[in-house]
Amino acid sequence: MKRIYIDYAATTPAHADVVKAMLPYFTETFGNPSSIHACGLEAKEAVESSRIEVAGFIGARSEELFFTSGGTEADNFAIKGVAYANQKKGNHIITCAIEHHAVLETCKFLEENGFEVTYLPVDGEGRVDPDAVKQAITPKTILISIMHANNEIGTVEPIAEIGKIARAAGVYFHTDAVQTTGHLRIDVNELGVDLLAMSAHKLYGPKGVGALYIRRGTKITPFMHGGGQESGMRSSTQNVPGIVGLAEAVRIARREMVEEIQRLTFLRDKLIKGILQRIEDTRLNGPLAFRLPNNVNISVSYVEGESMCLNLDLAGICASTGSACSSGSLEPSHVLRALGLSADLAYGSLRFSLGKWTTEEEIDRILDVLPKIVGKLRAMSPIYRSRQGR
Ligand code: PLP
Repeated sequence: MKRIYIDYAATTPAHADVVKAMLPYFTETFGNPSSIHACGLEAKEAVESSRIEVAGFIGARSEELFFTSGGTEADNFAIKGVAYANQKKGNHIITCAIEHHAVLETCKFLEENGFEVTYLPVDGEGRVDPDAVKQAITPKTILISIMHANNEIGTVEPIAEIGKIARAAGVYFHTDAVQTTGHLRIDVNELGVDLLAMSAHKLYGPKGVGALYIRRGTKITPFMHGGGQESGMRSSTQNVPGIVGLAEAVRIARREMVEEIQRLTFLRDKLIKGILQRIEDTRLNGPLAFRLPNNVNISVSYVEGESMCLNLDLAGICASTGSACSSGSLEPSHVLRALGLSADLAYGSLRFSLGKWTTEEEIDRILDVLPKIVGKLRAMSPIYRSRQGR
């Protein structure tokens, strides 16, 4: 049985060209980019040309891009860095209820350390209302952090509108673009963001590397103190192979993204329509418009997401109940609860996230297998049976 991987939002396999680009930087061009000899200079050249590539991809200047160990670090760097550098001006941060834990837990930490955080609600499809952002701003607000797109339900947030509001109010604006970099067009100036987080392993690059864009002039404290790498903002010897891998992943995205958006949108819509038609009492979580091209999130009444996921796994299909970080937890997804879903519907959720190697045959196989799994589980569910009058 050929296994189907349809959990690309959790992580993507590294592209063969990415691995190929990285390999020489483990053994041949292995120098420390801070060394002044030829081996070091070669490594430094690789880091700096990667910086130009990745920065250019999001409409930034290379000196505005700082490499990190991933998306979580980039979010921490942005939020803590701006909070501590601007605390004389104010202590208020605005974010929203459906952010990734990398943002929510960072905000919680800051709340325990003297900052105040407003967690804005979202509508039934997961959208933040830009007017609500505007109304939440006080003279003490120093930072707004709203994600570009949600990792569980795929909602794309109105970042450019919020960017204009933040700019007019003179408040820094950070966006977690971990799920959109390489998947949607990004221009930091069009979006009006001052900080933007990305992670290589979500766009066919390696794990353990990411980047934070910081607009020139942003007041921010360094994230790691030490040898002064990354212009003193993030000390530690750079992960040269990882950085080269991120740049290669960006190069591939630049080439293939537009066509890939079309292809994935077609497959996504086929999967959504097929599930809603073939299985009664199902609902789509998140919107149809303003949705990531690769995200399908559904709630199936009377069955648990975990059970569906395990049965799919037995059938060779790797999907997820929500974010990789919260699956395995007994709490229903904070994202689905923020949409106003009952605990039952939140527990009955399933996420399929499509990617570069997802085929129409795979979608057809899921549409064949899933209704059978749901039928089997519902037959064992006393609540479903009593509803059917059996
Ligand atoms: N932000 C979002 C929206 C994510 O989906 C993820 C990963 O799942 C992260 C942040 C964390 O990124 P990383 O795994 O690179 O730390």
